[in-house]
Amino acid sequence: MKTVLRPDYHSDQFASALQLNLSIIVPIYNEVECIPHLLDQVSQILKASHLSYEIICVDDGSTDGSTELLQQQAKLRKDLRVVVLRRNYGQTAAMAAGFNYARGAVLITLDGDLQNDPADIPQMLTKLEEGYDLVSGWRKDRQDAALTRLLPSRIANWLIGQVTGVKLHDYGCSLKAYRSELVADLNLYGELHRFLPALAFIEGARITEMPVRHHARRFGQSKYGLGRTFRVLMDLFTIFFMKKFLTRPMHVFGWFGLISMLLGIVLGVYLSFLKLGLDQSIGDRPLLILAVVLFLTGVQLFSFGLLAELSMRTYHESQGRPIYRVREVIEPVGNPKSAL
Ligand code: UDP
Ligand code: MG
Repeated sequence: MKTVLRPDYHSDQFASALQLNLSIIVPIYNEVECIPHLLDQVSQILKASHLSYEIICVDDGSTDGSTELLQQQAKLRKDLRVVVLRRNYGQTAAMAAGFNYARGAVLITLDGDLQNDPADIPQMLTKLEEGYDLVSGWRKDRQDAALTRLLPSRIANWLIGQVTGVKLHDYGCSLKAYRSELVADLNLYGELHRFLPALAFIEGARITEMPVRHHARRFGQSKYGLGRTFRVLMDLFTIFFMKKFLTRPMHVFGWFGLISMLLGIVLGVYLSFLKLGLDQSIGDRPLLILAVVLFLTGVQLFSFGLLAELSMRTYHESQGRPIYRVREVIEPVGNPKSAL
């Protein structure tokens, strides 16, 4: 298998290099029966690939003994790091913690319930090598309940595709592979982990998808029900906003605000003319209310745009986030300094 992802991280040099080839990130919330199988499966596949790797299990406040089992396993295995969160924060936060602790050049996320199949990892790496920054799994033959899971998920996937412009069949699949430098640019909140491809797209990543295996849950139960759909929808609005207006809110709010204000002023002038010029009564005219509402709305939108502009600047500057992302810089041949 051709596995090396970037020439500078060739596995031969890995013994001395601090950075690993792969970090496998697994959020765990009450999956005690799955953990032994999971660790076995992952290490079996990766040992065969001769890549250096670490498995990072993030225990998201489990109460069923998963924590103790992971702690015990971490003492026995060289390839396992365990991050124990203080309480249950949710899958997105657990994944974010995993990203923070990962040291690999490539990060792979995977569910801890054995529904994803680590056997797909090598092929995902091959895809990354083709030049993609993110490879997203597509559970083509998904083994979940049709009405409560598959249908809402189909609708959500379609909606997300429309809104974000990133057309994937399956946003919800946890099995994904990322180049680590991409992940460093992503910030996770809410239930945003399923929007990682969209966030990555905003950051200029090259994204592709790949059909992956999916198994029915053998142990434990799903942590989610229909309620998730609504949270996903709300997050979709956030993403939409981020994608469209992140660096230029005033272009949108200012524009609408100005139009609304102008309309209000025109109507106001017209009404003033009726009152002052023609001495008509305007107190009982709906147009008056419209003029006032339009004007006030305009002022509100305009000031909101200014405020949004300020917070966007804080957002970018407080984190040292540039408003652009560089894929690579090509220096002149010979002495690169001579060009400076
Ligand atoms: N999970 C988590 N914290 C939570 C809920 C879920 O870490 O609050 C983990 C869970 O242990 C599993 C993964 O996220 O490894 C996906 O959860 P689940 O299988 O319940 O979701 P589904 O596959 O049904 O969408
Ligand atoms: Mg699952």
